[in-house]
Amino acid sequence: MRAHVDPGICIGCGLCVSSVPEVFRLNGDGLAEAVADGPDDAVQNAIDACPVSAIRKA
Ligand code: SF4
Repeated sequence: MRAHVDPGICIGCGLCVSSVPEVFRLNGDGLAEAVADGPDDAVQNAIDACPVSAIRKA
């Protein structure tokens, strides 16, 4: 599954980066971005766990 992070909503907490590092990374602005497809369950867990609901399916 491909994910998309809304940079206007992400607060850069790093949770998604810690939980699914093969998909998410923090960019130069300190905000998360999705850089690769990931397993559906892992991406869905990141979507569900984001405290500000900044991640969605792309
Ligand atoms: S979990 Fe949500 S708020 Fe935290 S870095 Fe990831 S996208 Fe941003």
